[in-house]
Formats: sequence, C-alpha cells, structure tokens
Amino acid sequence: METLKEIQIDESWGWLEKREFPKLPRLNTENMEEIMQLLSHGKAVAYDGISDILFKQKENKDKSHDEFQPDLCDKSMSTLRNLWRANLDDFLSEEDSWGARLVALNKVFPKIPKRTEMRPILIQSPIVKLLEGRFLPALKKYLSEELVISQTGFIPKMGTHVNINRAIQRIKLRTDKKRPVYGLFIDFANAYNSVPHTLLFKKLRGKTIFSEEEITFLEQLYARYRIRLGNKSLRVNKGLAQGSIISPALFNIFIEDLAFELKNEANINLMDILMYADDILTICSSIEQVRKAIKIIDSWCERNGMTLNKRKSGIVVFSNRKATSIPLMRTERIKIMNRRQRLRMRINWVPSREDILGVPICKEYKYLGTILSPKLTAKPQMNYIKKKSAHIYTKLFPYLVNASADGKRDIFMTMIMPLFNPAIVLLHFEPSESHKKNLESLHRGIFKQFMGISKRTSNKLVDEMIRVDLRSLANSVVQMATSKWELRKGNKNTNWTTPEKKVNGLRGVPASWCQLINKQVKPCLKCKTKGTVTSTKHMRDVHGMTITHPLEILKKEILPITEKKFELVVTNGSEKKKIISRRKIQNKVTPIIEKYLKQYLDIEERLYKQMGEEVTCQS
Ligand SMILES: [Zn+2]
Repeated sequence: METLKEIQIDESWGWLEKREFPKLPRLNTENMEEIMQLLSHGKAVAYDGISDILFKQKENKDKSHDEFQPDLCDKSMSTLRNLWRANLDDFLSEEDSWGARLVALNKVFPKIPKRTEMRPILIQSPIVKLLEGRFLPALKKYLSEELVISQTGFIPKMGTHVNINRAIQRIKLRTDKKRPVYGLFIDFANAYNSVPHTLLFKKLRGKTIFSEEEITFLEQLYARYRIRLGNKSLRVNKGLAQGSIISPALFNIFIEDLAFELKNEANINLMDILMYADDILTICSSIEQVRKAIKIIDSWCERNGMTLNKRKSGIVVFSNRKATSIPLMRTERIKIMNRRQRLRMRINWVPSREDILGVPICKEYKYLGTILSPKLTAKPQMNYIKKKSAHIYTKLFPYLVNASADGKRDIFMTMIMPLFNPAIVLLHFEPSESHKKNLESLHRGIFKQFMGISKRTSNKLVDEMIRVDLRSLANSVVQMATSKWELRKGNKNTNWTTPEKKVNGLRGVPASWCQLINKQVKPCLKCKTKGTVTSTKHMRDVHGMTITHPLEILKKEILPITEKKFELVVTNGSEKKKIISRRKIQNKVTPIIEKYLKQYLDIEERLYKQMGEEVTCQS
C-alpha cells in the first residue's frame, strides 16, 4: 500500500473532480450481448459479491455459444442494459463496488519480500467490469483502424511475433547494405501505474472515439475508484485501473503521441518505431538520431508523468554478419575449452563505450522474449534455452523417470517448446546453414534427454516422435507475422494460416517404448568392442540376425493406433463419436512393444549360445 502511494499519487497532477454520473443512452440488445461476451469470467470474487455468473453463457448441449442462459442471463441483460442511465451512486458504494481488492503477490517467493518486491494485483468488481465493458467495442475499433500503426500490443489479431518479425526485417534492411543500425530499447518504470488520470482524460477528449458524455462517465468511474486492502482504502490520481479490460487500450491511446513526437522531431519513420504496449524499440540510423530519440523520450516522460528507466533500457548496435568492425563495439578474445578439451580463442563483441545519455550500450537485449544481438544470431537464445531446460529437467526429474513416453513428450511440449518460440523468427532469417542445424540439434537433444532415450537415437525416429519441424514452423510463423503486419498497415486483402499442429503420435504410448529404443544402443555382447551396439544394422550385417527398427515399428504398428483419436460407439441404438481413451491405446500398444522387446531377448540368447559353441570348439 505504501509503495502504491509512492507511485500512484502525485499531487502535481491534480485530481479528477467527483460529480454526478451523466446518463448514457440505453444499449440495444446486440451491443449488450457483445459486451457480455467480451467480459471474462471465473476470476476471483471481488467485494460486492456480484458473481460472474451473471455473465456466464449457457453451456448449451448443441454448442451454440452465442446464446445466453434464458432464465438468468436474459433477465439480467434487460435490466443491465439500463445500467448506464441508473443512479449508480444510490446502490453502488465505495465499500463494495468502487474498491478494487488488493492482493499482493510475492515476486521473490519463497523468500520474504520487501515492500518493493510485491506485485500488486487488483481485483475489480464484476459490475465495474461491466460498466467499463460498454467502452470496449469503440476502443477496439479505434485500435484496429486509427491508432498509430507503430503500436501492436493488445491490438486485435496482432501478437509479439509481429513485432519481432518487423524488427528483424527493418534491421536487415540496413545491415544487408552494410549500414550500421542502432536499436534503442526503452523501459518505463511502472508504466501502467504512472498514467496521470487528468492527462489521460485530456488526451481522450482530443480524440473522436467517445462522446463527451461517455468520456465524463468514464472519468466519473475513475473519480470513484479506490484500492482496498483489508479495511484500508486508498484513492490515487495516477495509474490505469488494474485488471480492467479497457486499460490496455487506454494505455495505447495515452502513449500514442510519443510515436508522433519521435517521427516529427527525430525524423524516425513510423515503421522504425515498434511499440508493444509499453515495450518500445526505436530503430535509428545514426548515433545522432539515437541521442535525439532519447532526449524526446526523456522530455515526453517528464510531460506525461512517466519514468524512463535508463539502466534497464538499452542500445544494441546491429551489423552485417560479416562485419569486422561495429560502431561503439570492440572485439575481445576469450579463451574457451572446446569439446575435445582443447584451448580455443573465441571472439566476443563487447561495447567500447558505456552509454549514450545514460542509456547503456549492451551486447544483447531481450525484446519481447527474444534476445537480439549485434549480428542477430540465435546463439544467445540457445544459451538461454540450454540453461533453462537443464533447470527444468532437474526439477522435473522425479516425474520424468516414472512418466509414460506420452507424458514425457507432453512435458517437452509444454515446458520446453515455448523456450524455442522466441528463436523461431531468428531461425528463419539465419543465413548460415550450420547455425540452423545447431538450433535443430539442440531441439532434438533436449527432446532425447526428456524422453530418456540415447543421444545416438536416429534423427528420423526422433523427428517422428516430436513432430515439430522448426524450419517449416519458422516459415509459417514469419509468413503469418508478415501478413498480420500487412493488415495492421491497412491492407485488408491479407490472410494467413496458423501453423498446423500435428497429431501426437505418442498418444497413450507407455514408458517401455523408450526402453525399446534404447536397445538399439546396447553394447553387443559378442563383439565386445567399444561403440559396437545391438542396432538393427549391426545385427544384420555382422551376425545375420533380424531386429525390426523402432522407426518401422512406430510407423507400421504404433501410429495406426495412436493417430486415431475418435471411435464410433453405439449407445441406445445410435452411433456417437467418442474420443478413444489413452488407457485404451496403451492397452493395445503395450503388447506390441513387448513383442519386440522379446525379439532382443531371443537374439541375446542366440548370441550367448553361439559364444558358448565357439568356446567349446576352441578347446
Ligand atoms: Zn556384434
């Protein structure tokens, strides 16, 4: 609470004056339905206890999602349509509705947090959410159609990949022509919580999104909001309502003029200003332009109640892959041990000067989850993936050892794949084939580790089990991001396909599958030379014995079972499509795997026998 006071109260900005609510026109049923659908439900219950059930849609059996529960929702709808013309102050009070409940999350768990190490979460009452919801459709329309194109955060259909793709394309535009590029990454301290209310409404009045009555209504909501913790209540004059569905849109509008200032005063193309909510990257073509941009942002912050967090902001100088000199950077030779334990020299790029106007020059910067480095290699991202996945592996080890093959793959998909996502766009633009291969082999390597299968398992078999091809995924992600950006720029004739998700071929497959795969790398009993294993090839070529290769087993016998997701079940004379349970699949697959495990046992026995015979012959 004390911390919030420090950030969110600044007397110099003045306070919104509390007046009566204006009466807004009654909504028609269509608009009301739209708003109800936009409101999320199932969140923690706030003070006034008006439950989200009011907004809950009817879970209809025939899945017509656009229908509301008639008994509850229709009634609440027709009453609530008048909400914006009611005397709200008669039945909503500070104690219940206007106070948002403060829940402080510990940022440094399990340690005991200091006051500043708490992340405050505010829970708004559903009725307030609904009141604000009225303003959402118009805001969304403004964001999509009128807001400066530089901004893509919280814009319908956009996403972080759009900006990462934009950034790389704009950077490469220059570096391909061997011109240096300066990426200025901006970090605001507590951006959302610093927006001065008085200025926000002044900016809203400068746009044509809402009528004067509507703005006044929204303003009066803000004049009544309180932050509550236990029985303490706090009124603030800075900060957007937390947990509110319109806050992201209001923030984008609040920060919109910064893009125009950068364009007009530092002569930066709007294409080179990349905003994702409060995450801002400005691509400059000279050091002078970087200086100008910092000065503009600094001055904008001062005039807008924001704090530019210079130490957390950064400048990265991008350069052509082959460049031997990069402005503001120098090389540093460091000794490293290579895989064969030999001392090697590696060249590292490090900043040759500390900062420009207090903003540090960095050897890399994490922008929207993707680490961007001077030569745009995926290397820093790969190091991050290695570190993070090793940590996850240790943490989940007790679970992994006992999990089925399906369960292990599932862990890989949910915990490890997201780490690769930020590297995907970089992979697409990577010019070097060997760098591409490095990322792919890291991907396979971690998969093998999580599956508990040997490092020597063949790529083909591994790929058939992961079923994520990084390169084609990268292609479709970049294609999608490019088309989405076209849409943002106003090209309505653009479309894209979301990357298809392949069927999980290991669905319901038990742990014994991994044992079977590892039999391929078991040392050969008879040959007893290092590196000679009971692989299909060795057994056939050297001993003339047949072992079915796991890839063949997978393709011919397992996939036909696991890839089938639905079955027809006859109940009461009618056929119904039903999902086949994992248990059922497991019951079918287990004997197949056992059959092939037995194949190895038989062969081991034959090898022993042969060895015994040879011994007798020799004596
Ligand atoms: Zn052998």
